[in-house]
Amino acid sequence: MENPKSENPMMRVSLLDAAGSVRLAECPIPVPGHGEVLVRVAAVGICGSDTHYFEHGRIGPFIVEEPLVLGHEASGRIVAVGAGVSDHRIGERISIEPQAPCRRCRQCKSGQYNLCPEMAFFATPPVDGAFAEYVVIGEDFAHTVPESISDAAAALIEPLSVGIWACQKGEVQAGSRVLVTGAGPIGVIAAQVARAFGASEVHITDVSAERLDVALLHGATHAHHAGDRLEGLDVDVFIDAAGAEAAIRSGISAVRPAGTVVLVGLGSDDVSIPVGLIRNREIKMTGVFRYANTWPLAIRLLAEDRIDLDSLVTDSFGLEDVEKALLSSRGAGKMKTIVLPGQ
Ligand code: NAD
Ligand code: ZN
Repeated sequence: MENPKSENPMMRVSLLDAAGSVRLAECPIPVPGHGEVLVRVAAVGICGSDTHYFEHGRIGPFIVEEPLVLGHEASGRIVAVGAGVSDHRIGERISIEPQAPCRRCRQCKSGQYNLCPEMAFFATPPVDGAFAEYVVIGEDFAHTVPESISDAAAALIEPLSVGIWACQKGEVQAGSRVLVTGAGPIGVIAAQVARAFGASEVHITDVSAERLDVALLHGATHAHHAGDRLEGLDVDVFIDAAGAEAAIRSGISAVRPAGTVVLVGLGSDDVSIPVGLIRNREIKMTGVFRYANTWPLAIRLLAEDRIDLDSLVTDSFGLEDVEKALLSSRGAGKMKTIVLPGQ
């Protein structure tokens, strides 16, 4: 992405200066470089990682050292294009896939661009995100959406992509029996995707009864309290969207021989897992690091009403209220909070 040029017109952005400190500021509207488009941002979902940066000023090795624009779940409209991009794209409503891989490394060339070591990802220091009136993105990461998909849903294609990637990695298919631990937005979306992929049973667990109720309305067929014994469920696929050691351990105990474990949740980096059980049952295990090539499928599933993201929105705020939005997104009764920079 190009650096904004100082002679450009200005826009409003929300800046995180340090843990606990966000403010509205003005900065130049960025200029789309070769192969990029300028997007007027319509809606931005708040992710747990935004709240984490706000509360702690860092996630692992990524430390907020300069003022940072948060927000990476975004939609909007193309208002200008850089060199090499057709003018015809101006005016298109799009969902932003918030990543810029190098396109040259082994992972990029093999289609696993989410694993690119040179990745520039929105709202990950030092790369700015989308709590701004305008952003630039590579034109092939600006995915056209039909009018039937709302601005909020188009923004939430980002977490939907995490759910799609998790189900693809787990090879969820018609008739699959699936367990998801954690009924936060990612777990509930993964449950919906599993059903859209044809799963016949989707078990979900959480410590919060309120969240389990939401999950049962959106994809899950069975709900279990986090402490319940899951051994013997014999699911084909277990997706962890909680990140807690207890969730991962109990989930693995519920996987059938030759089943698959998909680790999505971010918790401690080192947890104790039942290696003997994984070995004796020949359980396959994979991580999920964001997603690759998921937007086209996400857009089709939404356009066909096979996934409902709009019902997951519990709050929305203007750009001047990002702090309130970040604080409001916490709590079991909340699912997705949306920031509307255009208002
Ligand atoms: P969230 O915090 O809203 O949801 C996590 C849920 O897990 C909560 O409802 C919590 O009550 C529940 N939980 C905690 N302990 C549990 C236990 N022992 N058993 C069952 N449930 C338990 O987060 P989210 O936005 O839904 O995201 C889910 C996880 O996925 C987070 O850890 C997030 O960081 C991670 N994530 C990973 C990727 C990736 O690319 N790997 C992308 C997005 C999010
Ligand atoms: Zn690369």
